[in-house]
Amino acid sequence: GEGRVSVIGLGEMGRVLASSLLDAGWEVTVWNRTAARADALVERGAVRAGSAAEAVRGGALVLVCLLDYGTVRDVLEPAAGELEGRALVNLTNGTPGQAAEFAAWAAGRGAKYLDGGMMAIPSTLATEEAFIFYSGDESVLTGHRAALEVLGTPHYLGRDTGLAPLYDLALLTAMDMMFAGFHHAVAMALSREGGSAAGVTGHLVPWLTNMARVLPAFAGEVDAHRATGAAPALSQGLDVQRAGALNLIAAAREAGVSTDLLERSRAQLDALLAAGRTDWDSPLSVRQVRGEPLV
Ligand code: NDP
Repeated sequence: GEGRVSVIGLGEMGRVLASSLLDAGWEVTVWNRTAARADALVERGAVRAGSAAEAVRGGALVLVCLLDYGTVRDVLEPAAGELEGRALVNLTNGTPGQAAEFAAWAAGRGAKYLDGGMMAIPSTLATEEAFIFYSGDESVLTGHRAALEVLGTPHYLGRDTGLAPLYDLALLTAMDMMFAGFHHAVAMALSREGGSAAGVTGHLVPWLTNMARVLPAFAGEVDAHRATGAAPALSQGLDVQRAGALNLIAAAREAGVSTDLLERSRAQLDALLAAGRTDWDSPLSVRQVRGEPLV
């Protein structure tokens, strides 16, 4: 019936998907290459499918969470005959291009396909903190909203299948750079007797939280600039920015830590100056990262 959900892939994330659906009272069918990973779920009432095809047959809604898109394709290929009319949600991480390619494959087998990007880790999946990007066939979300809401707050981004993986990877990219910055800050703190990782982190968290609150204003200027060419109000002289960047580099050298990350920022500021710009603003930085003309 409509209450049946199948979960294909019982890794760190897939096991939480399945167990949270069980907790919420759904009838759950599970399949995993390494069958033993289903044991604890089966003890709690999940139905063990003998194959991926059987798992697809067992669910009005089929969730897939595997290593990568190549694996998804390999696992679902033998189940292709079962996909007709099925709501298929792929929560596996991949690129927008991979998602579009897979969506075409799934559509060719008659599946209603929704791509998903989980903004959660195993310990936060299916909690208040979790949110999930979706793109593709919106009828899958509207038809199965109650089950999908168990996993995290859904954010539907549009018909273009690539949007969910695009936003997912955009957020992960920013996170990656934040973590790189964090490790750099800790390395600097450790360069002097009185500094410590915990000490600097206690101040870094409120600082980054405050700075994150500036981002919507930057984003507003980027969008306004792209729409109408509106001049940004939040700007700063490039000379001041460059002096700051040189300080960061000099401080890193004094601390004996790598300047790699900082040299990249300096090179970007130098390129803006070389292009004749005098002021920095957020729309300009975005244009630079996009490889668009700076003048
Ligand atoms: P795991 O490594 O824990 O699980 C990987 C899953 O893929 C297992 O079910 C594994 O089966 C299966 N698998 C791997 N290779 C094959 C194969 N050749 N044939 C069949 N099955 C295969 O990964 P996660 O659960 O952590 O991640 C799953 C997806 O979720 C990834 O795309 C990841 O990027 C994404 N994700 C993960 C997050 C995290 O914090 N972990 C956060 C957000 C997204 P088996 O048990 O047999 O090895």
